[in-house]
This record gives sequence, structure tokens and C-alpha cells, in this order.
Amino acid sequence: MMENWAENVKWTPQEVLKPNSEEEIADLIKKANKSGKTIRTVGSHHSFTPLLSTDSISLSLDNLQGVISIEDDKRVIAWAGTKLKRLGEELAQNGLAQENLGDINVQSVAGAISTGTHGTGITLGSVGTQIEEITFINGLGEIITINPENNLHEFKCLQLSLGSLGVITRVKLRCQEAYNLKLDIRKEKLSDVLTQLDSIIAENRHFEFYSIPNSPWSQTKITNIVDEKAGHTSKFSSFINDIVLENWALQFLCNINKVIPSSSKTVSKIIGAAISNETKVEQSYKVFSTVRNVKFTEMEYNIPLENYQQVVKEMLQLIEKNNYQISFPQEHRFVDADDIYLSPAFERKSAYIASHVFKGMNNTKYFKNLEDLFVAHGGRPHWGKLHTQDAAFFKKVYSKFDDFLSIREKHDPNGVFLNGHLRKVFGV
Ligand SMILES: Cc1cc2nc3c(=O)[nH]c(=O)nc-3n(C[C@H](O)[C@H](O)[C@H](O)COP(=O)(O)OP(=O)(O)OC[C@H]3O[C@@H](n4cnc5c(N)ncnc54)[C@H](O)[C@@H]3O)c2cc1C
Repeated sequence: MMENWAENVKWTPQEVLKPNSEEEIADLIKKANKSGKTIRTVGSHHSFTPLLSTDSISLSLDNLQGVISIEDDKRVIAWAGTKLKRLGEELAQNGLAQENLGDINVQSVAGAISTGTHGTGITLGSVGTQIEEITFINGLGEIITINPENNLHEFKCLQLSLGSLGVITRVKLRCQEAYNLKLDIRKEKLSDVLTQLDSIIAENRHFEFYSIPNSPWSQTKITNIVDEKAGHTSKFSSFINDIVLENWALQFLCNINKVIPSSSKTVSKIIGAAISNETKVEQSYKVFSTVRNVKFTEMEYNIPLENYQQVVKEMLQLIEKNNYQISFPQEHRFVDADDIYLSPAFERKSAYIASHVFKGMNNTKYFKNLEDLFVAHGGRPHWGKLHTQDAAFFKKVYSKFDDFLSIREKHDPNGVFLNGHLRKVFGV
């Protein structure tokens, strides 16, 4: 049996395959076509939705990892199975770095781009926007390389494709010279953060914050490029924030909240009180990634930036009105518009609001109420995080949805890469 990181999706494939070459993958796909088997390509199993479920073949690119070549203009070709941690290290050894990343580094490159994984920064797009060329093997077993010059239309589909167009084997990434980031963590009143939000996101390369349900406090993270050398203002506060607050203590407090739901307000107070200020300078790829040992389920919606303040106002009222006994922090991030057909940030500057529920606690009503609110304000769900939407919804919110579906049909006419979840979201 296989399962995802959150342990909310489990599946038992007939075979788990780890091919060593593109030719091997092409042969596997041709055979699956003949025998009517399906193939789901797995990355690091970090998606919360049942994207990986199959009773047929789970195919992993763990044997296809690492940087393949580096061009003079800081373009890097890497195997699509490369984990982001390894990619960061190999790039650093060559004096290079990625423009932006999400808050963990364990995903594979292909897995990260295939659901629209993003970090924060209003002038920066999702990880997929750093990709300039993709080599993939489609549902007919054809090995194809696509870039904006030879086929812009298909490239915009491949930059976020949920593993439905084929197995991505290589990507060309636009990188930049390695740089250090200074991260400032502060304890701030949520009301103050919201009042100053426009200027904070405009004046800083990266800004995100965590709000705590039922608490007036938030933890803000401002991050900018600096020339300074790596160092810490306080190793102790870093220990409190990274290890104690984001992992051990959070786990302990969430367990109390789970066993005694009525303790949630006290737990929220303790979490709010524990936030401590911290400043550190590190290589960029080390600053982006955090450790996530506490297991949770998550729903994250993309909201048009102009609707964000109203959504937060209504979200706070909703949590209070329903007396939700949840203390797990919510994450707020801000990203630039892009032109990837199925990207939640398609053609709009956006805010992302991520809500978490501790593993083993019921998330159904909380997530559904929030989802209804987000949708009422133009929300689009993160493809890798829990949502209840289907093809009829996606057709309404993505103007290029039908274009994507026809490219999917072209590259996978026999549905080799489809599972039940994809049939629901694509309406096939
Ligand atoms: C603790 C935690 C923190 C997270 N933080 C963030 C964050 O900061 N920002 C954010 O946006 N998201 C975040 N996520 C979500 C996560 O980044 C996405 O779900 C991502 O897709 C997971 O990558 P993966 O390698 O685990 O892919 P998987 O979950 O294994 O697969 C995801 C999709 O990619 C497809 N795929 C994988 N490899 C290939 C391939 N070679 N070719 C074609 N398709 C492929 C799969 O078929 C599937 O559809 C987080 C998730 C967790 C559990």
C-alpha cells in the first residue's frame, strides 16, 4: 500500500516502477496502452488530493534525478524527478539559485510544477513560471520537447498539468546567480498587518504571515535579498520558531486541542504568545524551506488580490460565528499573475490563504464553509490541496479549460494517465 504525506489518501498499485531512462518509460507507456493499464506518475507524495491514486501502475522518477547541464545564460536542464533540496544544493555548488520556492523542499521538480506549487512575493510567479522547456513522454509513448518557441499553446498546458499529459522527464529552469536572503520574523497584531498590507507586499521581495484562529496575533515573515554574510540574531529564537513552535510544541498543543476541543482558545493564546522575533541571513534555498513534522490536512485557495481584505474580514467572522475549535495557524501568501492555463494565479495578482487541520481532526465543515466563502469571492483552489470542485466549476473559472482538455485528449487519447480524481476534475 502507498500513501501521501498527510496519510489521507491511500492506494494499492499492482506495480511500482522506477525506470532508469526515457526509453524505458516510453516502452512502459506503450505496453500500458496495449494492456489497458493506467499509470500515475508520483513525485514525493506531498499532494493532499487523490492525484496519485491508482490500482494499476505507480511510476516514480526517483532514479532520474540531478542537474544534466548548465548553459551560459544560467539556464539549467535537470531531471524532472530531482528533489528540490538536491536541486538547491547542486545549483549552489554552481553559483546558481532558483528565483523563488514554496515553504518545503522535499517535492520533486515535476511534482511541484504539476500542481502549481508557489511561494510568496507579489512580483514573483509559481515555481512553474521558472520553467522554460519541458521534455515529456505522452500517452502514446512519444518523447517530445516543448518550449514557448516551438509550441506556446502546449507549453502553457504543460507548465501545470497534474500528470495528465504525460510523464515529464526533463525541465529547463531559468536560474539566477546565487544570493543570500535576510528573513525577519516578527510577532505582529493581525489588525496592524492588514492595515499596512499594501505597502508591505509592495516594498518587500517576499512577504507572508501566519494568522492564528481565535487569536489577535500573527507571525510575519519579511524576506529580502542582501549582500550580508550568513548569520543569526538569535539561535534561540530560531529554535523557538522553527523547532518548538512550528513542530514540537505545535504537535503537543494540537494534540491537546484534539482531545479537548474546548481548549482551542487557550491553545491559540499559547501559540500567539510563543511567537518570538528573529532575524537570519542564509543562502536563498535554505531560507525558503522549513521543516514540517506536524501532520495536517490542508485546503488552500487563491483569491484575486483586490478581494483579499474582504475575504479575511468575512473569514474571521465565520470562524467566530461557528465557534470553530481550531488553533492551527493559517498561512497568507501573495503572488504575481501568470499565463499558465490552469494556474490559480492565471491573469491575476493573487493572495493565497491556506487553512490547516491537525491530522485526525475532522476538517469537513470548516473547509466547506471556507471554500464557499472563497468561491463567492472568485477563489480557485490549489490543485494539490483539498477541495470539492469538479469540471463544471473549473470550466467557469478557467477561460482556457477547454483548450487544456483538447491538448490532454491529443496527448493521452486512451486515458493512460487518468484516475477517478482526474476524471472528476476534467469531466471525462
Ligand atoms: C508539508 C507540505 C508543505 C507544502 N508547502 C507548499 C507550499 O509552500 N506551496 C505550495 O504551493 N504547495 C505546497 N505543498 C503542496 C505541494 O507542493 C504540491 O502538492 C506538490 O505537487 C507536491 O509535489 P510532489 O513531488 O510531492 O508531487 P506528488 O504529490 O507526488 O504529485 C503531484 C502531481 O504531480 C504529478 N507528477 C509528479 N511527477 C511527475 C512527472 N515526472 N511527470 C508528470 N507528472 C508528475 C503527479 O502525477 C501529481 O498529479 C505542500 C505540501 C505539504 C504536504
